[in-house]
Amino acid sequence: MIFLSIAEKAMNGQAPDDAEIRAIIDADEESLPALLEQAHRIRTRFSGQTVSLCAIVNARSGRCSEDCSFCAQSSHHSTRAPEYPLLAPDEIGRAARRAAQNGARRFGIVASGKFVGGSDFQGYLEAVRLVAEAGLLPDLSPGILTRGQILALKEAGLFGYHHNLETSASHFPQVCTTHSYEEDVQAVRTALECGLYVCSGGIFGIGESWDDRVELALMLRELGVPSVPVNFLTPIPGTPLEHREVLRPAEALKIVALFRFLLPDRAIRICGGRLAVFGEGRKAELLRAGADGLMVGDYLTTKGGEIRSDLGDIERAGLVIERQ
Ligand code: SF4
Repeated sequence: MIFLSIAEKAMNGQAPDDAEIRAIIDADEESLPALLEQAHRIRTRFSGQTVSLCAIVNARSGRCSEDCSFCAQSSHHSTRAPEYPLLAPDEIGRAARRAAQNGARRFGIVASGKFVGGSDFQGYLEAVRLVAEAGLLPDLSPGILTRGQILALKEAGLFGYHHNLETSASHFPQVCTTHSYEEDVQAVRTALECGLYVCSGGIFGIGESWDDRVELALMLRELGVPSVPVNFLTPIPGTPLEHREVLRPAEALKIVALFRFLLPDRAIRICGGRLAVFGEGRKAELLRAGADGLMVGDYLTTKGGEIRSDLGDIERAGLVIERQ
């Protein structure tokens, strides 16, 4: 009953209070189905029965100056992640056309690194134009951009900027020591101020507490981020988190539901780690836990599922793909 009343409040634009947030966090195995049902109800109120698909290309891989503990692309860790400079814009354009054929609506150009240098920037401008020509909304995840760079990319057709906060401000120092949380928050703020559609979310299962998860969700709400990617850790050999256990499916479902209750009208997109946590057989459950978006195809350094399998999940969940 309590989840029903919290859901009613969420659908009327009222945030849950501390006791209600605690009730969500404390949901046990027995009450989890009721929690998920209400999270799904909220998502249906704001997004109907549709699932928005997005796809990415890993446009520049490895050699990152930052030391994020979960990331295969950090130069501080010894992983087997591929290392290559920015792909040619034509290659990015071809990947976008394939994604469009698979039903994706948005296409993210994702690159490792903290800042964007001059020659890469010219490549992004061209790639953004080509993705737009493929009929997709171009998103870019290039690290931190200056205001001038954002405005030039917007002029070239950029729709969205993707920059995850990853975790709470409280937990961030345990995750990354080479830059501050505030730099990431400021990057998100600048992109929002420039009028871009901003995707910013986090990764879960990296040692954060439930309080950290709530803190992250409230920060994203305060910033006014419209789209929240949710990733689950796939432990990568050679990173400091290589031996961490993956989340249990029930915990991952509860994270998605918590975010739906705290961010009722935002897009919540399931990205990396789905297969690691749920396996092929159970990953459709995420679509009945409050999520309304799905990344399809491969992730940055880990394999995604077959597109046919994702489409089957959507159908089994009683949902349909969002069309433009
Ligand atoms: S998460 Fe991003 S900033 Fe951090 S190491 Fe990986 S590529 Fe670099």
